[in-house]
Amino acid sequence: MLEQKILNIKTRATGDIKKSQSEKGLFDLRVKYLGRKSEFNKILKSLKNLSLEEKKKIGPLANAVKKEIGEEIKNAEKIIKSKINLETEKIDVTAPGKKIKRGHLHPLTIVQNEIEDIFTSMGFEIADGPEVETEFYAFDALNIPKNHPARDAWDTFWLKPMNNEQRTMNNNKPVASDRLALRPHTSPVQARYMRKHKPPFRIIAPGRCFRNEATDSSHEHTFNQFEALVVGDDINAGHFKYVGQEFFSRFFKKELKVRLRPSFFPFTEPSFEFDISCVVCGGKGCSICSQTGWLEIGGAGMVNQTVFEAVGYPRNRYQGFAWGFGVERLAMMRYKIDDIRLFYSGDLRFIDQF
Ligand SMILES: [Zn+2]
Repeated sequence: MLEQKILNIKTRATGDIKKSQSEKGLFDLRVKYLGRKSEFNKILKSLKNLSLEEKKKIGPLANAVKKEIGEEIKNAEKIIKSKINLETEKIDVTAPGKKIKRGHLHPLTIVQNEIEDIFTSMGFEIADGPEVETEFYAFDALNIPKNHPARDAWDTFWLKPMNNEQRTMNNNKPVASDRLALRPHTSPVQARYMRKHKPPFRIIAPGRCFRNEATDSSHEHTFNQFEALVVGDDINAGHFKYVGQEFFSRFFKKELKVRLRPSFFPFTEPSFEFDISCVVCGGKGCSICSQTGWLEIGGAGMVNQTVFEAVGYPRNRYQGFAWGFGVERLAMMRYKIDDIRLFYSGDLRFIDQF
């Protein structure tokens, strides 16, 4: 009798749940069939009046049915929810897509790639060196005397020598007596390359350099230099002049003249500053070139025989020219940028123009 009653409730509940179309309807059914005032709850309460034998029979049945009804309601709720999601989350395949912004190269990278392309097309090899450099390669090998101001902490970022703890972590390997510095120029790459290679060769060494200086519109503590080195039996200043003129004419895509002026660098002998004819006025004189018709570009010279000796070449056996300039300066001339600090500012309004 009670058993039949329970099964009837189950049949009615299943029927109602199937018919129900909304979350609210299902909530009401849960109250109706499983709530405190439900018929089913009354039956469960009355179980205590039954004989032990009946309790054993009806109890598990009642619990099982209660559980089944609860699960049926839960499943029905899930189905209704997924239907609602489908209706509200319609995809309009004709709607225009969100545009993904395309990345691009930094202006300094663009310029450096171009420089590398021009030089490799002239048969130059690209050499690389560390940004943390020893005092030997940064200065001694380049014939820069011990008392030169570049060795001062005012000009160069020196790194702290290893302390005892770091030495222990370094497996007690002997520590070079050399001081370490962030390289103030790319010239150490010349010395490193020459120690491992025999002339003849022509290389370029582009890379980042660091100097301890106050920054302004034309000075940065971090900048990119560019170094060229050609060594052979009879390399002379005429070769340099030709390579310089050829490079700048290709870089600025117009015929340019090159001018050499005497100068001094410890690692070259003789040394010269070199200028190119103004890329704006073509040499007539304008505000960019201060009416001179020339633009100062960088330093160069014939490699000092003392530098050759320092890397293990016999004195007066080879001749070569070395040449360096700032990549930023070229980029600034190419793109008419008036402040060097913009390159590393991270300002997207600037960067996005390239
Ligand atoms: Zn000019």
